[in-house]
Amino acid sequence: MQTLADTPVTELKGVGASLADKLARIGIHSIQDLLFHLPLRYQDRTRITPLGGLPLEQDVVIQGTIVASDIVQGRRRSLLCRIRDDTGSASLRFYHFNASQRNSLKPGTEVRCFGEPRRGSSGLEFYHPEFRVIQPDQTDNIEETLTPVYPATEGLTQMRLRSLCLQALKFMNRPDALQELLPFGILARLQMMPLADAVRFLHQPPPQTEVEELLEGCHPAQQRLAFEELLAHHLSLQKLRNKVRQEGGYALKPGHDLSNKFLEGLGFTLTGAQARVCDEIREDMQQPVPMLRLVQGDVGSGKTVVAAMAALQAVENGYQAALMAPTEILAEQHFKNFGAWLKPLGVTLAWLTGKTKGKKRTEELQRIETGEAQVVIGTHALFQDDVMFNKLGVVIVDEQHRFGVHQRLALRQKGENQGARPHQLIMTATPIPRTLAMSAYADLDCSIINELPPGRTPVNTVVMGDDRRPEVIQRVRAACLEGRQAYWVCTLIEESEALQCQAAEVTAEELQKSLPDLSIGLIHGRMKPTEKAEVMAAFKSGELHLLVATTVIEVGVDVPNASLMIIENPERLGLAQLHQLRGRVGRGSIASHCVLMYHAPLSQQSRERLKVMRDSSDGFVIAEKDMELRGPGEVLGTRQTGLMQMKVADLQRDQGLLDTVRIAAAELQQQAPGHIEAIISRWLVEGDRYLDV
Ligand code: ADP
Ligand code: MG
Repeated sequence: MQTLADTPVTELKGVGASLADKLARIGIHSIQDLLFHLPLRYQDRTRITPLGGLPLEQDVVIQGTIVASDIVQGRRRSLLCRIRDDTGSASLRFYHFNASQRNSLKPGTEVRCFGEPRRGSSGLEFYHPEFRVIQPDQTDNIEETLTPVYPATEGLTQMRLRSLCLQALKFMNRPDALQELLPFGILARLQMMPLADAVRFLHQPPPQTEVEELLEGCHPAQQRLAFEELLAHHLSLQKLRNKVRQEGGYALKPGHDLSNKFLEGLGFTLTGAQARVCDEIREDMQQPVPMLRLVQGDVGSGKTVVAAMAALQAVENGYQAALMAPTEILAEQHFKNFGAWLKPLGVTLAWLTGKTKGKKRTEELQRIETGEAQVVIGTHALFQDDVMFNKLGVVIVDEQHRFGVHQRLALRQKGENQGARPHQLIMTATPIPRTLAMSAYADLDCSIINELPPGRTPVNTVVMGDDRRPEVIQRVRAACLEGRQAYWVCTLIEESEALQCQAAEVTAEELQKSLPDLSIGLIHGRMKPTEKAEVMAAFKSGELHLLVATTVIEVGVDVPNASLMIIENPERLGLAQLHQLRGRVGRGSIASHCVLMYHAPLSQQSRERLKVMRDSSDGFVIAEKDMELRGPGEVLGTRQTGLMQMKVADLQRDQGLLDTVRIAAAELQQQAPGHIEAIISRWLVEGDRYLDV
């Protein structure tokens, strides 16, 4: 049976190759695509408003007789027509008109117009209204439903889209044209309308419909579609997970030799939360199915140690471990930490980023391929085509929120070996609100490190305007002369890294002038790794009082004596990033302070966001707020990664549906497993399917 999904738009009357091309530009290929091409908003053309009672600046339909039609010379020449009904009169004004339009608006003609009345020189005027001549004796019915306004594109008018959608709706009368995929029992329990009714409703809402509710996307018909779309995403991720469970993996038995030595050498004991998460990982990695685990832990909760333990479990079994970080700096930091921890145990490391070039690159590639390197650390360069692993047992990804599902999957393929896949561990410092984690990451198991190592003191955060800069500078001076150290973070958001670095340079010079008795260092992304390392070493050893930095220190810097941080223009950064930055202080036992020095005036939203930073140091609370204020797209980093592109649903607005979606997914597995594939393909276009990677 041909479904509407397989019926091309060219089967509609009047759709030839050129119109089909235009439709394709907005993602419409089939009749079903057209049915799911939902209006952005609606116009109410169901009532004729009497000319005697026109509202100002609101779209209305009027009907009356033209009583005068003249070309008038004002500042610009225009055609001005007077229209009258039983209750009053108004004017229609056209600045652009042709002879035939002028002709059809002759006195005595009956016309119906749609437009917005405004005050003009002749009283209430409609500028360029849509109009239609009503022939005498013609029964010309007024619209019976609200008029949809669709997302359109160049060369595709609303009129055209409307008539196409009307035609498409007629196709729905064929039996099973738009199949209902949700079992009746589920719909009844959730009190949801059938899909076909929802689609019809949204293209042609009856006149008494609450337009507000439609505009907010909260109408039951929209919720019905959003629900099915969220369900489709959930099912797709679940399917991926099931597929992974069926793949072969490596059962890596924990050997205790290396890991015990490693723990003994650390100089601290694991927190309860770290130990618990290590156990969970150890258990997963012993199974002959690939682990897929997400570890969430606030800044400073000690995720790196957990990653090292996972790497060691692979090494103990003769396998390699790969650790991927999103930035050079973070990769460097890991390389340094891992080197200090693992080299004494005799474990060999390799290092690979986009900047590793020439002979060095060839050497590292070879060490990776022969297995001489047991732990490989780098950026996403690790997963380029020419990188060949010898026996990759575990892939560890740090800071997951910057990578999307697709990248995550691409990594897994890298380690494929005779049908078996490596274990995968994903670590994020941006806590993902629970509801989101469970839908956006339905394919992963989650562990949470919900405890900070002992001895941390909460950071006291203050928010102030940059008019108090001199005062802040003096505060920095006083703290440094007492033997403490400080960060000064410059946050110029520019496309060019060069400009950012330049801004930091200028700030460093200025601060040095104001603070001649302090020694001030500078670090930014354009410096060579060796230069950066020198500056960091000087800061760590206490040689430098103050470190001026771009946001590169967001990750990877650990100086317990640094107890003061000034962040310039914090309003330019996301909450998660501010939280990360602030996590650089409060690492020792002295009370730490963070000054968020904004540039007035602040928008209402910025003010609220800075207040969240001042009032909370809990990464989860901050993430929840961030999502409320900015929406889940920003929080999950989907802007960059293209993860979770939704047609109707909005994760923020429709959060309330997520629990229901999960339950319905389970019911569907029981009651109608045969429909799962159809639901997924109805909503997720080819490239978005999590399985096809
Ligand atoms: P994050 O979770 O932000 O990646 P790190 O792994 O960088 O945190 O750890 C932050 C700091 O805390 C590091 O200096 C690390 O050595 C230290 N650390 C980690 N675990 C513990 C612990 N159990 N006790 C004391 N210090 C710890
Ligand atoms: Mg970290």
